[in-house]
Amino acid sequence: MPDSTRIDEVLSTLDAELPRALERLKDFLRIPSISTDPAHRADVRRAAEWLCAELAGLGFDASVRDTPGHPMVVAHSAQGDRRPLLFYGHYDVQPVDPLDLWDRPPFEPEIEDTPQGRVIRGRGAADDKGQLMTFVEALRAWKAVHGALPSDLVLLFEGEEESGSPSLQPFLRENAEELRAGIAMICDTGMYSDGRPAITTQLRGLLGEEIVVRAADRDLHSGSFGGLAANPIQVLVDALATVKGDQGRITLPGFYDGVEDLTDELRTDWAALGFDAEAFLAQVGLRRPVGESGRTGLEMVWNRPTFEINGITGGYTGEGFKTVLPAEARAKVSFRLTGTQDPAAIREAFRAHVRAAIPEDCRVEFHGHGASPASRMDIADPAFAAAKQALSQEWGREAAYIGAGGSIPIAGDFKQILGMDSMLIGFGRDDDRIHSPNEKYDLDSFAKGARSWARILAALT
Ligand SMILES: [Zn+2]
Repeated sequence: MPDSTRIDEVLSTLDAELPRALERLKDFLRIPSISTDPAHRADVRRAAEWLCAELAGLGFDASVRDTPGHPMVVAHSAQGDRRPLLFYGHYDVQPVDPLDLWDRPPFEPEIEDTPQGRVIRGRGAADDKGQLMTFVEALRAWKAVHGALPSDLVLLFEGEEESGSPSLQPFLRENAEELRAGIAMICDTGMYSDGRPAITTQLRGLLGEEIVVRAADRDLHSGSFGGLAANPIQVLVDALATVKGDQGRITLPGFYDGVEDLTDELRTDWAALGFDAEAFLAQVGLRRPVGESGRTGLEMVWNRPTFEINGITGGYTGEGFKTVLPAEARAKVSFRLTGTQDPAAIREAFRAHVRAAIPEDCRVEFHGHGASPASRMDIADPAFAAAKQALSQEWGREAAYIGAGGSIPIAGDFKQILGMDSMLIGFGRDDDRIHSPNEKYDLDSFAKGARSWARILAALT
């Protein structure tokens, strides 16, 4: 039976087109689309227009859409009867300073041979222009072979990702009908650390709190008042110290509601990654994991919630010595959340815990700093298994479902505003120096990344 996806022809077209694909990527990288810097406002728009023209040239119905900030690029292929797929990337880049640490001008990209292989070097090579172009090049080859694009694709490219995405949520809300798809594919992440292809299927949520404890109405002398008057630093650290109990367990009532153990499937996948917690800690001069006992290292960073004190200030820390009981102490703390933990409920439980530890003549004030739940994708959706198999075929080794300890807000926004899960598939490497001088993207990541998307499109067609 002939293969209607003609994937072999699409792949060989991609291989033959690679030199020209790299020239196109270089053109794109020459546009200094730094979204945080108002001086580059026109450059950001120029990058949006460049991308829009590329997509229109492939036959997309593409447009540059204004927002109060930088524009979005939205493109649609013809309507058909397939499950709609949305693809997301961002065309803005990080600032380049300190400029003197670059070995070459950041917006004059070149191909370089390195001991680890050939790379393209320049700001945005990996984050995210090189990555998003893997998808565009896969579509170009598809079009060349089939004479038409796959139907039912929606492409969304953002120009504010590196400056906090202020326009994204309103844009998703205002254009929800147009953008809603069966599933989203986000290409802005990396491979698992040793170059193993991976699909990120869960991300921890985040909740931040700032606490201010006030005691006496002025700083006090510890000779006159010490032992009699409350010390707000002591009050604060006592309250925070009891948020974690024995063996790394968090003591807040109801805290673990919604936290779920790994499925057997994920437990097997994660075990196969061979993560060595002690070696991971050794990179930063440590040895001993401190999470809940009985959990693996990857569970601790991907599937278990945590509480961290991020900063604490108060009293006298200057030159010399001052025997003071300060009037005030402050701390900033955060929780990483998993499963279906409810950030609002945890905020309340945390505040109640702290209030209960405050003496009645002291005062406490709280300031919330963001609250986003964890994201967990439904990997029973057959698209995940299909994409995993396609990645495994391309890279010649079993692709893994992995987690991420941090948050990737776009995945949460797609879920909450558009009701769709995301597959986070990227081809970045740990040594790509994203956000740093001398950013690069491996040519292997670029070429095999584009081939991967072609295979994934074929698998989902
Ligand atoms: Zn990025």
